[in-house]
Amino acid sequence: MPGMKTKKLSKKEQLCIKCRKCCEKVGVYTDPAIYEISEKEVVLFYQARGATVTKSDDELFIVFDLPCPHLSKTGCAIYKSRPTICRIYSGLHEFGDDCLWSTLTKKRVASKKTDVNRAAS
Ligand code: SF4
Ligand code: SF4
Repeated sequence: MPGMKTKKLSKKEQLCIKCRKCCEKVGVYTDPAIYEISEKEVVLFYQARGATVTKSDDELFIVFDLPCPHLSKTGCAIYKSRPTICRIYSGLHEFGDDCLWSTLTKKRVASKKTDVNRAAS
């Protein structure tokens, strides 16, 4: 819009717009102890549903390919009013070096999670 001031995007915002992983996937933690079956069976269940399962401390981290309904071909359709969590969420813990924010640091950001996909198969 002519004359409208546009806020300069931060480096992190620019990287997120390029990356989009957090908009295309959703990850949730679950404690395998709350199920009345073995952890291996819990992992197998979520894998059968197409999720990627990793382990972090005592919790399972389950990632589904579930694109946000606000994600358009040109990016977030509600970018200016996107939820606070979208503004502050860091994909570093979830995606490790695959999160583009990792390029802002010289240290490699290895994910602390253990891949249980192979162990459970
Ligand atoms: S993984 Fe990192 S760079 Fe990618 S969208 Fe999430 S926070 Fe942004
Ligand atoms: S609201 Fe926008 S920034 Fe948040 S997950 Fe959806 S597309 Fe991504």
